[in-house]
Amino acid sequence: MMSSLPQTKPKKMLAALNPKDENFAVDAVNALLSQAIDCSASDVHLQPRADGWEILYRIDGVLSVAGVLAGGGSGDPVTRLMVLAGLPTYRAGTPMEGRLVWEAGRQAGCSSDCISMRLGVFPTVHGPRGVVRILQLEGSHQKISLLGLDRYQQQELAALCDQTSGLVLLSGPAGSGKTTTMYALLREIAASRPRRSVMTIEDPVETVVDSISQSELAPVTGLTLASALKSAVRQDSEVLLLSEIRDPDTAEAAVQASLTGHLIFSSLHSTDVASALRRLTQLGVPHHLVRSGVRAVINQRLLRRICEVCQQGSGSGVTSDSNQVSDSKVPATGQTESCSACAGTGYKGRFAIAQIVRFDTSDPVGEALADTLQAGDSVQRMRTLARERGALDLHDVAASYVERGITDAAEVYRVLGKREEALGHG
Ligand SMILES: [Zn+2]
Repeated sequence: MMSSLPQTKPKKMLAALNPKDENFAVDAVNALLSQAIDCSASDVHLQPRADGWEILYRIDGVLSVAGVLAGGGSGDPVTRLMVLAGLPTYRAGTPMEGRLVWEAGRQAGCSSDCISMRLGVFPTVHGPRGVVRILQLEGSHQKISLLGLDRYQQQELAALCDQTSGLVLLSGPAGSGKTTTMYALLREIAASRPRRSVMTIEDPVETVVDSISQSELAPVTGLTLASALKSAVRQDSEVLLLSEIRDPDTAEAAVQASLTGHLIFSSLHSTDVASALRRLTQLGVPHHLVRSGVRAVINQRLLRRICEVCQQGSGSGVTSDSNQVSDSKVPATGQTESCSACAGTGYKGRFAIAQIVRFDTSDPVGEALADTLQAGDSVQRMRTLARERGALDLHDVAASYVERGITDAAEVYRVLGKREEALGHG
């Protein structure tokens, strides 16, 4: 269900809102959504407490408290969101999901940007808890060149887009940017000539892109990812995006389609290339079909970029003459706390790091992994062998960004954890 959310009033600070005001819920929702968009938050949490709501924003993958909304009045911002998303408020005792559209930029006189959002409601002892996922604006991260990958990896991705068949898998945990990368690949394909027939089957749709046919699975229809994929293959499609492979039927359907002249992009929850391959076999895909169907595995994560305004790392300086920053390599912590560019976090924006392995004769790492998979070796053994063949893992890739001062060791540790020592010496 969709509904439109007109932005009628200038935003107010959350703490300044009066719960006794008759427009409290409307004003609160307007304020916290416009504030969330201003600071590029991906999620807004409305956590009910005995005395109001705690508001949290997820920015660049990290959750932080944005403020508190006082309670005690009759208005409830979560209920207001449910109304906007077309959800029945009398059923607030059950978990529900809905969609809404926020029109930003209206009063500025510019053309309004419609920002799609997804609302999830969950009952708690203090009333319904709401989480709003802000879906990406059409246009953001639309190109492979904007993902933050190095030039060589950009060329590798572009080459994958030229393929006419095979399965390209994105690997990584939730929130590692897999979907963004898949959309960048699809946009590259959609922009190429001659036109190719591109379809997506998503659960749910994360970003809306013109020029490709996107479908969302509706639970009531009983359509599964696997059955939808089989039908989509018969729609004269050439390129298909399947949001995620998470059951044996979908795994089989994806590999079958990849072997019959379709280029398939999908994602798996796996930590690296070896475990992605192993996961496919655990889902019942025979080794020989993995070998002939999978074209490449892209294992990726997102790292936060050091804020250039308040942090002066080695190698990443502010070059503008009017904005000279001292040459000191010690982070200017005093400035960080008051830095408005990064809200005092010291980081601003994220970029992708990736490990790309192709499964053809041109990539010795892919060949070695396919061989060990077929031999039934453990994932650990597969990793060791990949390293012996010269594969770089994400720690290696991240280290080069730390050296260049684009991110720091603390951020790499937050995302990748400690390096497994066993990998170092086989
Ligand atoms: Zn800063």
